[in-house]
Amino acid sequence: MKYAIFGDIHANLEALEAVMLDAANRDCTDFVCIGDIVGYNANPRECLEFVQNLGCPVVRGNHDEEAALDSPLEGLNPLAKHALEWTRRQLTAENREWLMNLKLVRQVRDFTIVHATLDTPGNWGYVTNKFDAMASFSYQFTPVCFYGHTHTPRIYIKGSSVEGLEDFSTPIELGRKYFINVGSVGQPRDGDWRSSYATYDVENQRVAVHRLEYDLATAQRKILDAGLPEMLANRLAVGK
Ligand code: ZN
Repeated sequence: MKYAIFGDIHANLEALEAVMLDAANRDCTDFVCIGDIVGYNANPRECLEFVQNLGCPVVRGNHDEEAALDSPLEGLNPLAKHALEWTRRQLTAENREWLMNLKLVRQVRDFTIVHATLDTPGNWGYVTNKFDAMASFSYQFTPVCFYGHTHTPRIYIKGSSVEGLEDFSTPIELGRKYFINVGSVGQPRDGDWRSSYATYDVENQRVAVHRLEYDLATAQRKILDAGLPEMLANRLAVGK
């Protein structure tokens, strides 16, 4: 049994399709989505329906929540706000209801999934260092938890700090706790434009983060064609 754990797709269909193909080539049998299916890029409905059709466990991200609500968009950067207003118009009432009904935290088999943090999952804080990770470890009751939100792949091990940026892989050892950021499918922000996701090999107790190229030019063209800010297309090329 091998899981593909992916998230922060952000309506980038080209990236999502590339990740799914890569996961199939790595013999993944099961899928798990850690949220932010929509927001920023040009295919929110297509990405949402793609994930729905997988029938896999999904948790809600902050962009999923904002896209599902009708309330005024406050406290967001102008790019996110513009994209979310556009995204709301692309989604059907059923799409938005589905997003709103997603849970914030879920246990899947022997691991946990959350979009942002385990200590206050609905506050959408960012785990960017080992002190942030410690707060989540206090609420982590499984050996492994996968999360996203920062768009930067990273592995925290309770009691130590191990950080990797590319093709990093770690054995899951008995008695330890792991808080693992799978990176972003559709808008990486660690300076590497390639999509990021993780695999979890249950039999061999091993987690790995993978990076792969996708059809960037098509994703960028769709953003411009949709009338979304040019900056959203440009940032994809530099992974920011
Ligand atoms: Zn995100």
